[in-house]
Amino acid sequence: MRAMAVVPGRVETAAVIEIPEPAQEDGAVLVEGLLVGICGTDREISEDGYGEPPPGEEHLILGHESLGRVLEAPEASELAPGDLVMGVVRRPDPVPCPCCARGEWDFCRNGRYTERGIKGRHGYGAQRWRVEPDFAVRIDPDLGDLGVLVEPASVVAKGWEQIERITARACSVVQRVLVTGAGPIGLLAAELARQRGLDLVVLDRSESGPKPELARALGATYVTDLGDVTEEPDVVVECTGYGPLVLDLARRLSPGGVMCLTGLSASEEETPAPLHALNRDLVLANAIIVGTVNAARRHYELAVAALAAAEKTWLERLLTRRVPLDRWPESLQREPNDVKVAIDLRG
Ligand code: BGC
Repeated sequence: MRAMAVVPGRVETAAVIEIPEPAQEDGAVLVEGLLVGICGTDREISEDGYGEPPPGEEHLILGHESLGRVLEAPEASELAPGDLVMGVVRRPDPVPCPCCARGEWDFCRNGRYTERGIKGRHGYGAQRWRVEPDFAVRIDPDLGDLGVLVEPASVVAKGWEQIERITARACSVVQRVLVTGAGPIGLLAAELARQRGLDLVVLDRSESGPKPELARALGATYVTDLGDVTEEPDVVVECTGYGPLVLDLARRLSPGGVMCLTGLSASEEETPAPLHALNRDLVLANAIIVGTVNAARRHYELAVAALAAAEKTWLERLLTRRVPLDRWPESLQREPNDVKVAIDLRG
């Protein structure tokens, strides 16, 4: 069978490879791969060498945003053949650390966790894959192909959970939300803000293409310049990973404000920064900047529920490009109208 693989850091090796049927040790649930979403992490693995293949191997099978159909599942599991399913990305470290021991592998403390399709384990970008029942998340059949959005939505669901835990610390009122970056993570974060009934502004550089309309369809005010954000946000969900913007945003939080950082940048550029002023602004506002990565199982379940509560036609507009498995390396090239690009493993 075929799979999408790359030697990390050597994008010219991105290709379809022939691999044996999935090993039993990967888990008791056998799945037919349907779709795999591509994100910035897959590009960083391919181009910059982020992540690592399993020990002793050169290639990494990519694919951490999965969607598949169950072919075989143990009687005792909650899954049955025909179910739509996706696989959790992270596996706990082997020690395990106190967080991994209680299923909070997203907070792993020793860094020895593995991630399917990213760090030390092959991903779900294959025509068939296996997964352990505890790491398989059942998806409502109504979602269909939109189930490929569960993984990015899990990252956002965790971000919102963290924000809500932090804002519960005092009398802070959350009314105004600013989402920066209108890629899949930003737009899903905006949808979760909409579901919470909050006033929403979305900031992105795109003047045209699908992003402005997708944001406005959520009732958001869409801006392309931070100068057009006239009122201090109570919550910022930062999804660009662009350091200088993060700094500007940190200085504009409302009293008691929270900024949740979800983005990453590979840039090594050194930028001068007004750090004394930043310190003053954060202290005097009781402000919090919190980073978030990955997701525990409960966040995947929250993500499934959030996608079920979203408008289906809006979610469909997020899936802007599908690439057949044989041509998957094309998905690494960004196109101007891309929001979420997915590889079709069925072709
Ligand atoms: C994935 C996370 C993962 C992170 C770091 C992201 O693209 O969504 O699950 O933890 O990359 O490897």
